[in-house]
Amino acid sequence: MSRHLVIVLLWSAVLAWSPAAHSYSRASGISFSTLTATLSGYSQTWKDPWDADYYVDCVFWAWDDVYGYQCMAIQTQINYAHVFADLNSPAGLHQTTAATDFTNAVAGYSAVATMDGTWSGQGRHYVISDFYYQWCPYNFCTPPLYTGSMWFDIGTSEDQVLVTLPVIISMKISRHDTTSLSMGEALGILGMATELLQTDDNDGDTACSVLFLPIADIDPFSESGPEGVVNDQPEMAAVMAVPGLVQVVNGIEWCNGPPHIPGATITGCGNSQGITVRRWTPTAEGVVWAHEYGHNQGLSVLPGTHNPNSGFLMNQTINEGQRRVTASECNAFLNPI
Ligand SMILES: [Zn+2]
Repeated sequence: MSRHLVIVLLWSAVLAWSPAAHSYSRASGISFSTLTATLSGYSQTWKDPWDADYYVDCVFWAWDDVYGYQCMAIQTQINYAHVFADLNSPAGLHQTTAATDFTNAVAGYSAVATMDGTWSGQGRHYVISDFYYQWCPYNFCTPPLYTGSMWFDIGTSEDQVLVTLPVIISMKISRHDTTSLSMGEALGILGMATELLQTDDNDGDTACSVLFLPIADIDPFSESGPEGVVNDQPEMAAVMAVPGLVQVVNGIEWCNGPPHIPGATITGCGNSQGITVRRWTPTAEGVVWAHEYGHNQGLSVLPGTHNPNSGFLMNQTINEGQRRVTASECNAFLNPI
């Protein structure tokens, strides 16, 4: 008897098999760093290990006199986790990122906060099913042919954070053309100054919500005495007149005069015109810059008015342990002139 194939029937409904929503999990998280004024967050869709990754369905049966029912065509469905991570400001959608992964889709973001208020990270979670069709006469299947995708909505997730922006103090920085200072180093110094002011170190300290940021590039200048050292009043006046708030030099031998303590090193000089600093031990440069900015804002400018207490930023002797500011000193930072 010749093999006689009779195509009779049984188009099984070409329907997607819905992935079980309970087999997928979802989450969102958001946080705010006052040290960088940055919002960070993520949304994630992931699949439980025991959930099916794919599903194979015969979509076309035929009757064979010899072999009985034969599957002539199969549809394969492959499932992926997908997520949109929306960052919402108090005014509305701020940005969206997205990710797709076979088992664990994570979309993250990092953005500078632009306003006070409640920001939220919202995840929109989906399973995406890709469909492939294969024609399989007598069990010899053609290569899979992609025929389309379906999206299954498995809900949302949300997390919130209350943002209170620090007072941003923008500094244009210049350096003597013989002085080495990269933007990375400047960011490190300003980060240190920000951290010591924001942190409440107790014992009379005030958490002072400021954020120092650089503006534009670090431009070189040629004013100063030989080898980038400031030796006297005219040289200091010339350096202070360089455009920008911060001038970085190789040495300072004169501020309002020679060093008050004979033999001491002057690490910085600040007045209403600006701030001149020298490179100093890496752990104390943030203190130097914040201290001189305090002078620039009118703190302890008269002779003998430095804060007499050690451990305070506006104490005259600079070291890395000077991290505290009084409430009124903080006020000068929070309300720049
Ligand atoms: Zn000082």
